[in-house]
Amino acid sequence: MRRPKSVHQMTSAQFNTMFPVGDEDACKAYLVARRWPDGVKCPRCGNAKVYKLASGFHWQCEVCATDGYRFSCIAGTIFENTNKPLRDWFKVTHLILTSKKGMSARQLGRYMGFGSVKTAWLMGHKIRTALIEPETKLGGIVEVDETFIGGKAKNRHDDKRDGVPGPTGSGKAIVAGAIRRKGNVVARVIENLRASTLQAFVNEAVSHRVSLLCTDQWVGCHCLGA
Ligand SMILES: [Zn+2]
Repeated sequence: MRRPKSVHQMTSAQFNTMFPVGDEDACKAYLVARRWPDGVKCPRCGNAKVYKLASGFHWQCEVCATDGYRFSCIAGTIFENTNKPLRDWFKVTHLILTSKKGMSARQLGRYMGFGSVKTAWLMGHKIRTALIEPETKLGGIVEVDETFIGGKAKNRHDDKRDGVPGPTGSGKAIVAGAIRRKGNVVARVIENLRASTLQAFVNEAVSHRVSLLCTDQWVGCHCLGA
């Protein structure tokens, strides 16, 4: 299945065209394409040989259950166990992502016509939690460097001397840091200075949408991709 292009700032009109009111199937098709770009897999065991059921957007896995495990496109997602249509979830997500100053549960509830503030609060909470990971990544202009921190190995307790990370024999911990210009810092103790370790740190801390990555004679700079 072809993966739809990711949409960055969708207008309200674009949203309504893409997900017409009451068109749950449009939302489900979008979810399926985003969730399983390489074809539907069982959310329980990862088996890709699943059978599509006639009821639509439901599949069955024969691997992880003898009598067959049936699942829908929302199984194992934040949209599961809800009485709200998928389109409401998408709309709330869109509202949260497009309102610069955020949106209170009261505002959301009023806008969506939900009976209770609690419903809006729960949905907003689930959506924001699901969005945390990419948000904490650093974007824009990011500088990456590493440093050595800590005392000499001989001053440490015996039980802490073994396996101490750091340049050979120094006993110091290596800390890799990434800082966004005029912004957040992510720092972490890393095991070693191997290219793969540094690459993993950068991948974890820095968004792939970063516009420029500065390195200050950084040993890992040669291993960073374009
Ligand atoms: Zn399975």
